[in-house]
Amino acid sequence: MTDPRGPLHDRVAVVTGGTRGIGRTTAEALVAAGASVVVTGRDGDRAQQVAKEIGAAASHPLDVTDPDAVSAVFKTIASEHGRIDALVANAGVLEDALIGMIKPDLVSRMLDTNVAGTISTVQAAARVMMRKRSGAIVLLASIVGERGSAGQTAYAASKAAVASVARSAAKELGPRGIRVNAVAPGLIDTDMIRHLPADLIERRIGDTALRRLGRPDDVARVIRFLLSDDAAFVTGQVIGVDGGLVL
Ligand code: NAD
Repeated sequence: MTDPRGPLHDRVAVVTGGTRGIGRTTAEALVAAGASVVVTGRDGDRAQQVAKEIGAAASHPLDVTDPDAVSAVFKTIASEHGRIDALVANAGVLEDALIGMIKPDLVSRMLDTNVAGTISTVQAAARVMMRKRSGAIVLLASIVGERGSAGQTAYAASKAAVASVARSAAKELGPRGIRVNAVAPGLIDTDMIRHLPADLIERRIGDTALRRLGRPDDVARVIRFLLSDDAAFVTGQVIGVDGGLVL
């Protein structure tokens, strides 16, 4: 049975890129579910401010493209809180470019944050979780990584890789009691999609069975479920949270 104090009561949960958008809303949902949440973000002051606003337990400055910093911050969190039970590897970047316009440094930026950043975060969290032989991890993939999207080749490749990380990490870490899943959001109303032209957004809404944009809390609630014991036998999955969007 679910704990009446909240499905994540007493769990220590870390969220990367937790200062806005899906990350912030997920951090709030995890606090509401009873977790001790650690908000991390590139801007330490902003992370601290958000942690205060949402009632999180702590915050740390963290740029996920710096593997040494990732390792150090997760060690600090483990020593301050005794353990880490849940990770939301949310930090991500999107830059659109048609194939003819893709520059190598754009590809590097997508891969450094979305793929290498996700892998080093999973690695740092897993090292701590393995000590207790339990933990749950959720990664942020994307419908674009599953289906493809014109003008988003580099981003789509990085998000396909994230889904792949979830499947392999689930196989490797499952015997150690650690579950790894990903969510693949459709179009969610955050700063990440502000640059898209209004007519494209309207077309995408028309292609969505539920005929609306997603909200950050649509994604946060699925992440909360995947981190909870209600999903105790769910691992290696990539769960679409897209309102029935057909790309
Ligand atoms: P957002 O731009 O509002 O948030 C992204 C967060 O990641 C920001 O807080 C940003 O500062 C942080 N971040 C970026 N680079 C970082 C780094 N190197 N280190 C630490 N933090 C870093 O966008 P969002 O929509 O909330 O995106 C959250 C996640 O969801 C991303 O991984 C994104 O790819 C994914 N996603 C979003 C959508 C969408 O439609 N909004 C769809 C599918 C997947």
